[in-house]
Amino acid sequence: MTQPVRVRFAPSPTGKLHIGGARTAIYNWAFARANHGTFILRIDDTDPTRSTEENTQVILRAMRWLGLDWDEGPEVGGDFGPYAQTERLALYREAAERLLAEGKAYPCFCTPEQLAEDRAAAQARKDPFQGYQRRCRNIPADEARARMEAGEPYTIRIKVPEDRGDVVIDDAVHGEVTFAAKELDDFVIFRSDGTPTYNFATVVDDAAMGITHVIRGDDHLSNTPRQVMVYEALGAPVPVFAHISMILGADGKKLSKRHGATSVEEYRDAGYLSDAFVNYLALLGWSLDGETTIIPRDVLAREFSLERISKNPATFDPKKLDWVNAEYINRMDNATFTQEILLPQLVEAGLLDPEPAVSIDEEWTDRLAEIVRPRTKMPADAAQVAAPIFATAETLVYDEKAVSKGLAKEGMGAVLDRAREALGSLAEDAWTAEAIDAALEPLPEALDLKKRVVFQAVRVAICGNLVSPPLGETMALIGRADCLARIDRARTMAL
Ligand code: GLU
Repeated sequence: MTQPVRVRFAPSPTGKLHIGGARTAIYNWAFARANHGTFILRIDDTDPTRSTEENTQVILRAMRWLGLDWDEGPEVGGDFGPYAQTERLALYREAAERLLAEGKAYPCFCTPEQLAEDRAAAQARKDPFQGYQRRCRNIPADEARARMEAGEPYTIRIKVPEDRGDVVIDDAVHGEVTFAAKELDDFVIFRSDGTPTYNFATVVDDAAMGITHVIRGDDHLSNTPRQVMVYEALGAPVPVFAHISMILGADGKKLSKRHGATSVEEYRDAGYLSDAFVNYLALLGWSLDGETTIIPRDVLAREFSLERISKNPATFDPKKLDWVNAEYINRMDNATFTQEILLPQLVEAGLLDPEPAVSIDEEWTDRLAEIVRPRTKMPADAAQVAAPIFATAETLVYDEKAVSKGLAKEGMGAVLDRAREALGSLAEDAWTAEAIDAALEPLPEALDLKKRVVFQAVRVAICGNLVSPPLGETMALIGRADCLARIDRARTMAL
């Protein structure tokens, strides 16, 4: 029987959750879900100068917005807690003490000056081994203990076994990666100020939490041989590693502020849908079948696999993100679109009272949603598209360019007169999209004008712009009296 999957996302709360971190979180979450495993959130806050509680909260909020529910971690607890590294310091201390006692680690009393001197000497003699020169490795245990107790400052170093040889990692993304034995340093696991280093704390935690797969950015690939040394010293099984590629900007450079918004929050605030954002980020380095671009969350949670992660760096393309976002909006059913986008946006834009005294007609709203939805790429577009419909003949704002292009032209006065006449002949209860379209239909021929010219003039008269939704349906929603009043107002601008 294979072991149940346990994975973790371990952000350092030194800033906001960025696109790269979010993608790592998504992959861990999806891998856990696809394997009926456990997704753990751990806060790697051992860097006291840069970690803040506020950042932790920002990250938790971003994770919630992304919909990446964690099974163990802050706020939800679990059997392997606590889930913040600053609350686990005693565990690192204990693990280091054990390695010291077992002779798998040793105290190092070298001063920074001594270390610098040794490094320079190794460089000068072109020593193939450029790491720590192991000066303190063979200090007898009782002497070392005495110096520690006397208060001499020391770090704790891992003792890489003499005969360890190369470290070979079978990475789930990169395949076999070999790190030469000479690169294996007796590196520091505890600093002289009594804090553990990242490579040590992470492995103590991953081992204690029973992590089976470590999925993270490939900027950590170079840390992995050191971490393997810690697993081996602790006598813990080494997990499967999957190092995912960097995310690049369009210029081929590592994604950064220069490329625009990088934090999850900024995308949330700009109005992107969580589902669309997760879908797009999932595709940065992973694919379902090499061609499908719309992959709903439940499919991702079912189908995600490490095998389909690409080795190559992914390029962040804001246009593609926009496309995916628009696609999600377009695929919504009318009721969802109305509740989640249209009504909130109308309220936000001040077009609708948050608590209308008379609730707006459901059938009317449904028809409105039907024509607004396909024209909505970002949620805020919905209010923009709907604004002329919510205006009145008095409040409608006429776009100057639209007026000069469509209305303030010779012959357009006659167009409006004929339109007014045709529309005016429709009775109030016959005011439907079909009837309106039918009434306007004969005009171009009757006036010997192009269809486009005629409809453009009416469009500007009714909506004040050149880009409104289909005219008949729009006018039906506005209502007969106000449409006629709009034409009367526009008539003064037409020639
Ligand atoms: N706290 C580390 C980071 O944010 C975690 C790296 C890891 O997953 O081991 O980069």
